[in-house]
Amino acid sequence: MNNSVGSFIELVDVSKVYGSGATTVRAVDGISLQAERGEWIAIMGPSGSGKTTLLNLIGCLDQPSHGALLIDGTDIARLSRSELARFRSETVGFVFQQFHLVPHLTAVENVMLAQYFHSMTDEKEALEALKQVGMEGRARHLPRQLSGGEQQRVAIARALVNDPKIILADEPTGNLDAENQKIVFRILSDLHAAGRTIVMVTHDEAAGKLAERRLNLEHGRIKENLLFSAEENQDFDEVLEHLWAHHEIETGIRPHEEIHIESHEFTAVQWKRLIATMTQIGLVKVENGRERFTPKGESRARDVIRRHRLAERLFMDVLNIHDEHEVETSACKFEHILSPEVTDRMCSLLGHPDACPHGSPIPKGPCCDEKRVLGSEEVAGVLSGIRSI
Ligand code: ADP
Ligand code: MG
Repeated sequence: MNNSVGSFIELVDVSKVYGSGATTVRAVDGISLQAERGEWIAIMGPSGSGKTTLLNLIGCLDQPSHGALLIDGTDIARLSRSELARFRSETVGFVFQQFHLVPHLTAVENVMLAQYFHSMTDEKEALEALKQVGMEGRARHLPRQLSGGEQQRVAIARALVNDPKIILADEPTGNLDAENQKIVFRILSDLHAAGRTIVMVTHDEAAGKLAERRLNLEHGRIKENLLFSAEENQDFDEVLEHLWAHHEIETGIRPHEEIHIESHEFTAVQWKRLIATMTQIGLVKVENGRERFTPKGESRARDVIRRHRLAERLFMDVLNIHDEHEVETSACKFEHILSPEVTDRMCSLLGHPDACPHGSPIPKGPCCDEKRVLGSEEVAGVLSGIRSI
């Protein structure tokens, strides 16, 4: 049942509805989400926004009312009750805000309790898990003999003992003081560095920043207006350019040799992550394992390509730069920073060219219909503006 095309965690239009009629609550409302192995995702948002519900769905503690959930290629809806229980115990380790330790069992016994569901208990392994969280010296203590921070570390050891593929943590530091919060986050950082996949619910902005990706929930939905840094936006543009170039090669608009232009510097993992984020914000979609533009993504890609190719023309035709590398580097810089107005003026200055110096078509802009020609003052203005960049 392993699906090599899909992501490690994949939610397709998942909803969770509680109650019926007038009392219906859409705790999770149509969320699509992809996460890769080894990712660390923070789920953030106000109280009641559906964070816990979403985490419980990913952890198979709950079943979606609508939509599909796939983990490592397994469609959760196809599992029987007993298969699901087994799948859950092998796949996810949970850490809760209330540590949920059994009061009359020692630390090591609490950890072994998780193994019990796995049908074999091994004290050595349980002690090893306690060691991973720095609690081997407290193995024989009862929960009430441990501080809150220590109890949570035992709970983390319990989550780790079956070597789960995914760690799910619901406000794991919600009941801890600052000092113990730091310790728990350091443990999570270490687990992430060791390659674990982590999905964590938190209120804490600083903690959210530790994760690679943040999802902001509001009324059961992922908030669209996520703020991305300039670097992240540049990465999105690079991906869009790459997809555009591929489309041109496929459709014969562009010769195959020219693939060097999009020799981007992303690793396979970075690429997958970018695609996941861009899917979430509606720039691309994945169909039959291939990345495709959405209309929004295509329009943004067209604008980036237009800026890039106009900049190339400008450097070669107007500024007389013929060093391929210099032209390319400068065009890559310009494509991210030119405003629509400057781009249109540059296009007019160049006489609305049809193709870049390599012969690839330059997408038309609003200025091209008017075929406007700039006056000499305007030309000087555009050039001095561009030189100052
Ligand atoms: P969060 O973790 O972000 O605070 P939850 O996922 O716990 O939010 O809850 C989201 C919404 O779903 C809330 O309005 C909550 O009252 C409702 N809800 C959660 N669990 C249940 C349940 N078992 N029955 C009915 N409503 C629920
Ligand atoms: Mg919650």
